[in-house]
Amino acid sequence: MNQQKIKKYLMQDVSSLKGVGLKIKKLLKRKRIEKISDLLWQFPQGYTDRTNSRDLDQLSIGKINTIKVKVIKYNFPRIRNLPNKVICEDSKGKINIIFFNSREGYIRKILPLNTMVVISGKVNHFKNNYQITNPPYVVPVEKENYVKTIIPKYSLTEGITEKVYRKLIDQVFKNIDNLEEWHSKDLLKKIGNISWFNSIYQIHKNKNSSFNSNYYKRLAYDEILANFLVLSQIRKRVKKEKKINKKFNNFLSEKVINNFKFSLTKDQIKSIKEINIDLKSETRMFRLLQGDVGSGKTIVSFIAAANVINSNWQVALMAPTEILAKQHYELAKKIFINTNINIEFFTGKTEPIKKKLIYKKLQSGEANLIIGTHSLFQKNVIFKRLGLIIIDEQHKFGVKQRIELSKKGGVDCDILLMSATPIPRSLVLAFYGDMDVSKISEKPLNRKKIVTISKPEEKTNEIILFIRNKIKIGIQTFWVCPLIEESKKLDYSAAVKKYKVLSKIFPNKVGLVHGGMNKEEKDLVLNSFLKKEIDILVSTTVIEVGVDFPNANIIIIENSNKFGLSQLHQLRGRVGRGDVQGTCILLFKKNLSENARKRLKILKMSNDGFFIAEEDLKLRGFGDVLGYQQSGVKDFKLADPLHHEQLFILAEQNIRNIETDAKNFEKYNFLLKLFDKADIINEINSKGFN
Ligand code: ADP
Ligand code: MG
Repeated sequence: MNQQKIKKYLMQDVSSLKGVGLKIKKLLKRKRIEKISDLLWQFPQGYTDRTNSRDLDQLSIGKINTIKVKVIKYNFPRIRNLPNKVICEDSKGKINIIFFNSREGYIRKILPLNTMVVISGKVNHFKNNYQITNPPYVVPVEKENYVKTIIPKYSLTEGITEKVYRKLIDQVFKNIDNLEEWHSKDLLKKIGNISWFNSIYQIHKNKNSSFNSNYYKRLAYDEILANFLVLSQIRKRVKKEKKINKKFNNFLSEKVINNFKFSLTKDQIKSIKEINIDLKSETRMFRLLQGDVGSGKTIVSFIAAANVINSNWQVALMAPTEILAKQHYELAKKIFINTNINIEFFTGKTEPIKKKLIYKKLQSGEANLIIGTHSLFQKNVIFKRLGLIIIDEQHKFGVKQRIELSKKGGVDCDILLMSATPIPRSLVLAFYGDMDVSKISEKPLNRKKIVTISKPEEKTNEIILFIRNKIKIGIQTFWVCPLIEESKKLDYSAAVKKYKVLSKIFPNKVGLVHGGMNKEEKDLVLNSFLKKEIDILVSTTVIEVGVDFPNANIIIIENSNKFGLSQLHQLRGRVGRGDVQGTCILLFKKNLSENARKRLKILKMSNDGFFIAEEDLKLRGFGDVLGYQQSGVKDFKLADPLHHEQLFILAEQNIRNIETDAKNFEKYNFLLKLFDKADIINEINSKGFN
């Protein structure tokens, strides 16, 4: 195929592949595999070594063996629940091949009497005979090489076997092997000098192509660049047009500050100043407010909101979850008390009648400030004069969602993003390009350092006692259990078990939230925790970011070395947010490694998320896949901002060269398509960003 054809081929629907009928298509869709190229992004979870080929007198029991044998006898019992059996032999011995749930006709077809076949599967010993049960591979001898090899394992949905998937992938690889490179030779050298085809091929076929290999690195770089191309287009649009500058006095913001019972920190004041300059200028604001958990970003954004409202514009604040949005709303009501600011709360769950009322108020300009979830994107939400969009925990939203909301505003609308994701300093620039950044490093003065201790699991009894005493004085506890990620599904069993154990000790005082619950169920439990109806909240890591639980001052983290340091730091940031001392107890199983000890030490020593992120990066080094994607930045599925820092920096340099030449940009069209960014770019460019 020529280049154009290959590229087109990769973008075709999977149903154009041999072997993909309606049923498989539907199953693939469940895994979000729709185009042919999507198949390739499903990386193997591991590899099965089927090269071990043995005679029947030297089989290794309990292991996968590949054997070459002759079919000598069938045994098809006509009794339900008894399996079908096929006896095979080679010159050294005999083996039984056992089939549960397979029809006789099928077995006769794949194992014809008196022929030689190759069978691969796990060998067991049963009643003095060797046996393989439901062997995944049974092929005629001509196909021996197809089986006797290292075979990738995929995390697939039920209904698609590894064999089927492997066939599809092989089919694709055959058709695209001479796809040309899109990077320059110079650049390619810097990322390991491996072509795209070879990278993706090796990732699927080579058992040594781990997360740290150059193959992976190359693909991660592509992804970073694709994202930067999008960001670059957004930036251009944002900065191009002049906006009407906001004119305000301090009347309203001072009132707000007075309603807030604390005095602002130096960094908060500085951030407010920087934001005010942007608001008053004729260039659209595109600013990131970065600050560790609990550094007090919310109040800064409210003051910005006050100033924008004061200059006769509306403000929208968007949070990633319902409960966080609600909390912001409650705080806003307190802080804007005795001003005549009209504040509305809007989520997907708002009643239809209420919604209509809010639409009206937004359109007439009666509503000044609206706080809600991503439902604010909706077509029906039309503002009279939107002047500022604030997006909290922005990394929880993808680029696409951010664009959607920005489109609501028009050129005159400023944008403030807030994030607690501790991206190392060197990366912020690379990540956001020339987006302006305000940073809050200093925590509020009254804040006591969270006491962090580590304990072996055997001492859980001491902890129970500790919690019991704290409950008496009204202090609540988070109990976090790691989510076990199995290949097929997420496993919440650790949390469920702990919930049962704790419920026995503290009847009616324990709640449970985990990722298997839906939003409503979660909110119900979180709300009863917030209202102090329960005292202990057992959870996987789903505790909502940013939500303030003022009476929860203890957090217990089980199996703590399963978490990345930054994640642990974010988790413990859930407690000690008021002026009460917070306690974080890290539980671990016996025998911590040297490295794990060091990690815990860093956490105990420092309370600075940015320092911790940097130290973590140094310690982890390459080779530790655990931290992969722990930063949870939504726009990346391969690249990890902490792990691939160098690649981000390289892409940032490269994007400057690309930006200066529009023709250059075209060269990367296919790359954008590969990462599903083409539509976004079109949207930005055609209909316009505004
Ligand atoms: P984050 O930056 O993580 O979003 P929040 O804005 O939720 O942090 O603030 C965390 C807590 O700190 C809140 O309870 C808030 O009221 C409080 N807070 C914010 N600024 C100050 C301050 N200057 N002094 C004291 N407490 C503050
Ligand atoms: Mg927050």
